[in-house]
Amino acid sequence: MRIPYLLGALVLLLTVTTFAQTAPANSPQFKIDTMDKSIDPCTDFYQYACGDWLKTATIPPDQSEWASFIELEERNRDILRGILEKASVDNPNRDAITQKIGDYYSSCMDEATVDKEGIVPLQPELDRVAKVQNKQELIDAVARAYMIGPNPLFVFYSSPDLHDSSKVIGNLDQGGLTLPDRDYYIKDTPQMVQMRKTLTDYITQIFTLKGESGQQAFESAQTILRIETELAKASMDRTLRRDPKTQDHKMARKDADKLAPNFHLERYFHDIDAPSFNNVNVANPDFFKQVNGVIASESLDDLKTYVTWHLLNDAAPYLSQPFVDAHFKMRQALTGQKEQKARWKRCVSYVDRGLGEALGQKYVDLTFGADGKQRMLKMVDALEASLKTDIQDVSWMTPETKHEAELKLEAIKNKIGYPDKWRDYSKLKVERGDFLGNYFRANLFESHRQINKIGKPVDRDEWEMTPPTVNAYYSGAFNEIVFPAGILQPPFFDKSADEAVNYGSIGMVIGHELTHGFDDEGRKYDAQGNLHDWWTPQDAKAFESRASCIANEYGNFTAVDDLKLNGKLTLGENTADNGGARVALMALENTLAADKNSPAAKTLDGYTPEQRFFLGYARVWCEKRQPEYSRMLVSVDPHSPGKYRVDGVVQNMPEFQKAWGCKAGQPMVSQNACRVW
Ligand SMILES: [Zn+2]
Repeated sequence: MRIPYLLGALVLLLTVTTFAQTAPANSPQFKIDTMDKSIDPCTDFYQYACGDWLKTATIPPDQSEWASFIELEERNRDILRGILEKASVDNPNRDAITQKIGDYYSSCMDEATVDKEGIVPLQPELDRVAKVQNKQELIDAVARAYMIGPNPLFVFYSSPDLHDSSKVIGNLDQGGLTLPDRDYYIKDTPQMVQMRKTLTDYITQIFTLKGESGQQAFESAQTILRIETELAKASMDRTLRRDPKTQDHKMARKDADKLAPNFHLERYFHDIDAPSFNNVNVANPDFFKQVNGVIASESLDDLKTYVTWHLLNDAAPYLSQPFVDAHFKMRQALTGQKEQKARWKRCVSYVDRGLGEALGQKYVDLTFGADGKQRMLKMVDALEASLKTDIQDVSWMTPETKHEAELKLEAIKNKIGYPDKWRDYSKLKVERGDFLGNYFRANLFESHRQINKIGKPVDRDEWEMTPPTVNAYYSGAFNEIVFPAGILQPPFFDKSADEAVNYGSIGMVIGHELTHGFDDEGRKYDAQGNLHDWWTPQDAKAFESRASCIANEYGNFTAVDDLKLNGKLTLGENTADNGGARVALMALENTLAADKNSPAAKTLDGYTPEQRFFLGYARVWCEKRQPEYSRMLVSVDPHSPGKYRVDGVVQNMPEFQKAWGCKAGQPMVSQNACRVW
């Protein structure tokens, strides 16, 4: 499923500094230049580890935050730019992949053509909506919009069946909003009220650019806000959605149709060329009833305005400058980003989004060696062994559930660097000089690819992130951990750095992803990736009580200004951070015990291996954010801010207190330390 642009940045897990200094492996030195040694590590470890960095780092005007993973993203982007500039040189001898990525990039960089054409490339799509005569035909317009980009009214996507993870099922889910979350439409805080005003200003401006009069455009904006507010009211809260059971409503196709007869689901499936299938999962049935009501109560003209809006909003970044600027202004209000990114930066991102596994092939050719993969595999093994010991040792779980947990752990697969099998883009046509057309064709290609999977066996070789991505993920349905090549670089993973530092950074990331298989969400999936309860009631209760300790702890942290973190929204990530740090440290201790003479087992530059572990850990989370962005993330991001990814974790760890000689009563020694794993 395509991720709306505003949410695209939020899955982020990790980081890397751009030019980490490295020493030869045979004479390790410890170099972390982010620290403020005037701070007591037991008072605020994040300040101690990041203080010097925080004093000098500034958020570049084209970013909404600055952190080591953003630095690494920028470095990756430079590499991708080099690839794309070369690929975009028109040359009949280019291979098919080079032609596609090169011409996509070139069509994006051809700003003069894009500006000259204005709204013209989108006009045929707007005309389709304009020609709609009745509410049945409206469904055709909704289906067409879905295929080429936006998701008006709702989203449709394919995924493994929650109860049979070997088969792909279609899912109908809530959607159809422009702002990042239902809260933006429902909450009456001054910030949310202001954001709705910014939204209607944005809509008014875009409709004016499209050619409506000021008054007409203003009325269109009111219509859209009204419809989206109705959809938001029936949208399920993001925190509740963390429980996959809340979205488990598989039903016969005809029953889904009965939920929302005004929607004409059969017509929709026909329009999108869906293969034949009998069952579909309706993730939020109440939402579908609401969509049914909205179609009934709104006039055909207003519904057409709404669908038109979603086409305009989705295409705006691909149109001429006035559309791009209006779109950016909305983004700016949400994220605090001061300036638009340079065009080449945006163009690199668009190619990564549309042709990620084509561009990714060229990226890994340049950057990713077999030695890196071998060393990662060794660390993954070490981390799995530690988590196994941890499961065996916990006091609160019965042998029965422990056995099931071990089976699940053993079944976790890993993917490192890039896919074994690259996606075949041969059916996707990319044309020089047709930027919006390329965007639409890439979306059509992806929509068909997703829809054609329905009813077929799950392809276990697929990746959900592109190789240059600076991130990692765990998938419950696939029961796998995945690390794109983009993150396997300093400071996350530094081939020449001391092992203690690497275990604190990439080791903790591996531990974090493994622990996701056993957080409040992941624990509901079994070894095969099915939604199946393998916990005894007693163990489930013990888990919930330990998890609620973490939810309460983080729920008391202040994210920005007066806003506290949402302890329940961030519970899974915080559980993974705490468990990940603990099993990574265990893995380091095991590695050091196996080779007491290794340089990593010694004190370096005055720091013990354990201290270097925690410093390596904290450094990747040093971050600065615009306050607007911090506010948005409180509503939508399941991750805690960097400060709490560090301090929240270490204050729960007796191992940290031992490493730094912290005493009871100091801030980094929690009185009520929480621990799940
Ligand atoms: Zn995570």
